[in-house]
Amino acid sequence: MPNVDKIYEHDGLKVRWQSALCSHCENCVTGLPSVFNLKPPKSTPWIDLRGADKERVIAQVSDCPTQAISVVK
Ligand code: SF4
Repeated sequence: MPNVDKIYEHDGLKVRWQSALCSHCENCVTGLPSVFNLKPPKSTPWIDLRGADKERVIAQVSDCPTQAISVVK
C-alpha cells in the first residue's frame, strides 16, 4: 500500500496524515470515532474533521503517539 501524506482541512483546522508513521495503536479511532473512522461511508475520507469541534479534534490528535496525525500550524 502506498504511503499517504495528506492534509485534511475544515473550519480553519488542518490535520496532516502521514500513513508511514502510523503504529496502528487505534487511539484515534477509539477515542474519537466520529472523526477517525477506518470504515467510513463511501466517498467520505477516514478523517472527517466535521465530526467534532476543533478543540476536541486537537486534543485527540495530540494523543497520537507517533505524530502520524498532527495539527498543521
Ligand atoms: S493514534 Fe496515531 S498511531 Fe495510533 S492509529 Fe491513530 S494515527 Fe495511527
